[in-house]
Order: sequence, then structure tokens, then C-alpha cells
Amino acid sequence: MPTQLVWFKRDLRLLDHKPLVQAAGRGPCLCVYVYEPELIHSPEYDGSHHVFINESLRELEIGLRARGGMLTLLHGRIPDVFADLHRVYPFEAIWAHEETGNKVTFARDLRLHEWCRSQGVAFHELPQNGVIRRLKNRDGWSGKWQQRMRGQPLPAPERIACVPDVKRGRSLDERDVGIEPSTKLGVQQGGESRALEVLRSFLHERGANYRKDMSSPVSGWDGCSRLSPYLAWGNISIRTVHRAAAERARELREQRKAGEKINGPWLSSLTSFQGRLRWHCHFMQKLEDEPRIEFENMNRAYDGLRENDFNEAYFDAWCSGQTGYPMVDACMRCLHQTGWINFRMRAMLASFAAYHLWLHWRRPAVFLARHFLDFEPGIHFSQFQMQSGVTGINTVRIYSPIKQVKDQDPTGVFIKRYCPELEGVPDEYLPEPHTMPPLVQQWAGCVIGKDYPSPIVDHKTAYQAARDRVYAFKRKPEVRAAAEKVYQKHGSRRRPMSRRT
Ligand SMILES: Cc1cc2nc3c(=O)[nH]c(=O)nc-3n(C[C@H](O)[C@H](O)[C@H](O)COP(=O)(O)OP(=O)(O)OC[C@H]3O[C@@H](n4cnc5c(N)ncnc54)[C@H](O)[C@@H]3O)c2cc1C
Repeated sequence: MPTQLVWFKRDLRLLDHKPLVQAAGRGPCLCVYVYEPELIHSPEYDGSHHVFINESLRELEIGLRARGGMLTLLHGRIPDVFADLHRVYPFEAIWAHEETGNKVTFARDLRLHEWCRSQGVAFHELPQNGVIRRLKNRDGWSGKWQQRMRGQPLPAPERIACVPDVKRGRSLDERDVGIEPSTKLGVQQGGESRALEVLRSFLHERGANYRKDMSSPVSGWDGCSRLSPYLAWGNISIRTVHRAAAERARELREQRKAGEKINGPWLSSLTSFQGRLRWHCHFMQKLEDEPRIEFENMNRAYDGLRENDFNEAYFDAWCSGQTGYPMVDACMRCLHQTGWINFRMRAMLASFAAYHLWLHWRRPAVFLARHFLDFEPGIHFSQFQMQSGVTGINTVRIYSPIKQVKDQDPTGVFIKRYCPELEGVPDEYLPEPHTMPPLVQQWAGCVIGKDYPSPIVDHKTAYQAARDRVYAFKRKPEVRAAAEKVYQKHGSRRRPMSRRT
């Protein structure tokens, strides 16, 4: 039977892997992962991503071996590595998942299609989530997404025939591929079994108060699902997660019907969680439909809003967690250490960069992409644009870094963990430590300007100036007209355009 090549990318798992199932049913398989220099040396890639991928590959390799297969690790540019492999093992077809990636992966896929055509090799790309390729219209997208989620996740093939004499290749660490080793600690570990365990613990132990817990960086650490890196690198499919959540909700409803007590607001939490799984694909669909938004404003009428005002000193202070606003600094330092922070704090970081510091979104977005273990281009760039107010279809939301302390961490549990210089600061001064009188600063062991920075901008002035500038733009007829087009292309149809301003 003709040899099939299964190309693993951001789908490092065995369960619900249709390309693997299809290929294994047709002949002996070459299962391949390629360390791609052009991705590894892109500005969004970090050592922590590399470690997570290698952990995932180790488990994948064990799973493939247990089924008679083998994982081959290659290093090089695509399609050159496939051309080399084809000379030794002339495979009939390449099987892979569709990927909503960035400009680099898009160009790579085009090259591969071209090479496949020239060699008479079939290239089968199959969907792996609710993102619809070549979508004509956003109307009815939700229904299509539901349909994808309804299908049963596929079990892993029981047997995978291996190509005789195929070699394993070498696992490459960060130094081998020429990047800095990760300095992060307490980062989630990669692998399919970990993904399944995180899903189980969320649905059965941690998720009861998800709706309440998700907003604070303190409660969000355990109260959020923490599935994002596993979804981003494909250790688990979104359909598997969605089905498991639906099944758990059904179980709980039956318990309730039978008169059993349910501990905590599980059902409303699960409804919120399932909504977010839809958002996952909704945001990715935007990049799939319009790849240019990786670099350009979604609403081109916002061009010129911030491009000429980039302040390098502000950017450096934001990147290093030295803005003088404890919540911003603690979140940034938390990301440096762990690679994860909850949604609200991500939104606050993006909003602070865009409004208070008036930085164009692109460089902050690339910086955070590297620090998010779960970097997912489609979600990331779309969210960044939304939080920076350049879509024209979303409410302008300027987060106050002062209010976020009062609301989400009033006693400084989180802030003091990541900004230890604020340890002695009394709670009432934590939102704005620079307002401590000199004597209190001495007692607190935290002299502003020496132990902890003075605020790099004044909140009220920066907030008001940003509001005025962004609303002045938003009112322009050309911005409104362009917003209508953005809505037609990308808007969720849950709320009509007329109610979005
Ligand atoms: C500026 C900015 C950048 C972001 N970049 C990324 C990114 O690169 N990768 C990423 O996975 N998420 C990103 N998010 C969305 C969100 O913050 C994370 O998905 C979430 O915090 C991950 O933690 P969790 O898995 O515990 O989420 P949960 O709250 O448990 O949600 C479950 C899953 O739903 C999806 N999800 C949740 N919230 C959102 C959302 N607002 N938009 C789209 N999908 C969502 C994610 O896949 C998440 O894993 C970004 C948000 C902002 C504001």
C-alpha cells in the first residue's frame, strides 16, 4: 500500500486527529514533525514554546510507538525537508490539519502546495476546529460552528503501520535550534495526557465558580480552565473540550432532576465556558478571513491614529513591568515568569499600552505573543486590535489600572507576589503607591522613584486624552462607513451593528 505522510504541526495529539486516522487507514505512515527555522526565529517564538512542543512530542512519540508507528523529527525549511524525505520514501500523500497561522506559515503552506503539485503528491488539509476555510459570509457562522462541535471526537487509530527502516531523527532543544533557553518558571507542561487531566480537573473540581473566578488574577489561576496552551498547540481538540463540557452539563442537569444537590453554580459556569470555546474560533475566523490583520488595522480608517507617536521609553517600561502602576507591572512580571495571565488582565495590559501610553498595537502584540505560552495568532491579533479600539465595531473599553487593583486584588496577594518591593505598602495605597506620604513610604520600605517607579504617565490625564482622541476618530464618517464593512466581514451576528457603538 502506498506510503502516507502525516505532518504534525499545532496538533500534537493522537485523539481526534483526522489526518492520522485517514492516513493510517490507507497505508504505512511516515509521522513527521519539522522544527522550522523560519518559525523558530520569528519574533513571536519563545523558548517556553519550544519546551512545551518538545514535551508534547515526547508523549506523542510514545503513543505512536505503542500503536506500531514512529515519530520522525526533522529540521529545515518546508518543502525542502519533504523533498529530501520523498527521495528516500516516495510517499503518495501528505495529511495535515488546516492552520490559521501567520504570514510565515501561510507562505510556507503555499510553497508546499506548489511542491506537491509539481511532484504529483496529494496534500490533504482537514479542518480541526470551528474555523471555516473560504467562508463566503459571516451569516450563519455560529450554526456551522455548532455542527463541527457536534461530531464525535475520533479515537486514536489502534494500529499504525510504520514505513520500514525509517529513522527517528533528533529531538532539538533551544540551544540546538539557536534560541535562548526559557527562563520561565511554573509554566504549564505540554502533552496530551496533561491536557486531558487539566480538562478533567476543571470540569469536575475547579470550574464551579468559573464565572466569578475568571476576572481576578488571584482566583483565575485555578478557577479558569487553563486549557489555552493545550488548545493552541493542539494537545487537545476544541471538539473534545466542547463535548466533555456538554456531557458534564448534561450529567449535572440529570443530578438536579433527580433531586441531588449541586455544589456551586456549575451550570452557569459551564454555559460561560462553552461560550468562550465559540469565541476561540470566532476570533480565529477573523484572521483566517483576512490575514492582513496580523499587521494592519482591521478598520483601515484608523490608520494614522497612533503610528507616529510610538514612545520607546514607555514601551520599554511596559515590557519590563516598570510603569509605576502595580497591577500592570505585576501582570507583566507574572507573564515573564509563568507565560499565563487571565483574560481581564490581558485586556488591561493591551488597553494600558494602547490608551495610557498611546502605543500602536503591533509591537506590544508581538511582545506578548512571545510571552504567552498559548499564543494563538488568530485570537491574539484580533483581541489586540479590539482592545486597542481600532476595529470600529467594538465598545471602546479603557481599563483603569487603579480600579483593577481595588476590584481584583484589594489586599495585594497577586501584586506583592510579583512586585516584592511593594510588600510593606498598606492596602489603601496599593492602587497608587506614589500617593503614599514620604513618611509612609519610609515605613513601608518602598521609596517611590527609588524602590518602585513613579507612574510613567498620569492616569487621569492620559485616560482623558486617549478618550478624546479615539472618540474624535470614531465619529468621523469614513470610520463609521469602514466599520460597517468590518462588521459585515467579521462581526458576530449576535448583536446588530446598530447596537454596537
Ligand atoms: C490582548 C489579548 C490577547 C490574547 N491572546 C490570546 C492568545 O494568544 N491565545 C489564546 O488562547 N487566548 C488569547 N486571549 C484570550 C484569553 O485571554 C485566553 O484564551 C484565556 O485567558 C486563556 O486562559 P484559559 O484557557 O484558562 O481560558 P478560559 O477562560 O478557561 O477559556 C477557555 C478557552 O476559551 C477560549 N477563550 C477564552 N476567552 C477567550 C477570548 N476572549 N477570546 C477568544 N478565545 C477565548 C480559549 O481558547 C480558552 O483556552 C487573548 C486575550 C486578550 C485580551
